Amino acid sequence: MIRAFFVEFVFPCLLFLFVRMILRNMFASMRANARPRPAADRPPIQSGGDLKRDPVCGTYVSPAASVQRTIGGETVHFCSEQCSRRYAAR
Ligand SMILES: [Zn+2]
Repeated sequence: MIRAFFVEFVFPCLLFLFVRMILRNMFASMRANARPRPAADRPPIQSGGDLKRDPVCGTYVSPAASVQRTIGGETVHFCSEQCSRRYAAR
């Protein structure tokens, strides 16, 4: 009776789980091989284009990352808040 239970229920269950585990591992490795992570996943790095010169320290900064201040109707770009303040002070 107990033996029949094992043969007809427990054993098929274990077999099913085992086969499923193997299939899953196979599919996972197949997917990993077929589609290597595209580089486009990473956010684009902004480079080049129009860099603005910090008039205080002479560093070239990207307008998107710079500290901007409008002085006399002209937008001046600084590498940091510190340079911006130093420029305003003189
Ligand atoms: Zn600066």
